[in-house]
Amino acid sequence: MRIAICPGSFDPVTKGHLDIIRRATTLFDKVIIGVSVNPNKKGCFTLEERVNLIKKCTTDIPNIEIDIVDTLLAEYAKKVKACAIVKGLRAVTDFEYEFQMTALNYQLNKNIETFFVMSPPQYMYLSSSIVREIASLQGDIDQFV
Ligand code: ADP
Repeated sequence: MRIAICPGSFDPVTKGHLDIIRRATTLFDKVIIGVSVNPNKKGCFTLEERVNLIKKCTTDIPNIEIDIVDTLLAEYAKKVKACAIVKGLRAVTDFEYEFQMTALNYQLNKNIETFFVMSPPQYMYLSSSIVREIASLQGDIDQFV
């Protein structure tokens, strides 16, 4: 069975994330949405809230699992026997960070490949932090999440 992980903080999950997750589920037998405990990101939703939000909007996708990743992703991948990490790329600005993470993960676990899926044009600008910002200014976030 080919298992992939879609990692992220999903704070909150957006339509951009869901697009990447759906596309990954057509390529792998099982996709684990790995919700990360990221000490470097100032969070808005608790882990439990983030997991529940993802659950609510993925009920129609049969081959996914949602899990919390509180170790190195490379170690987590070994534990769940995943062969791939699937990530979304929005713009060139994502590339620098992802380039570094891919090299690091490969060094830590040579059995895992990282795949990048390009964001469709309508979600290229969309991030969880933009959604949090719009919400904090009482803007309408319905079209994004
Ligand atoms: P964010 O950067 O929005 O806080 P995460 O850290 O949760 O998102 O990102 C998890 C993964 O989802 C990353 O691979 C990121 O590139 C991807 N992703 C986030 N938003 C989008 C989007 N709008 N289109 C494509 N991929 C996205």
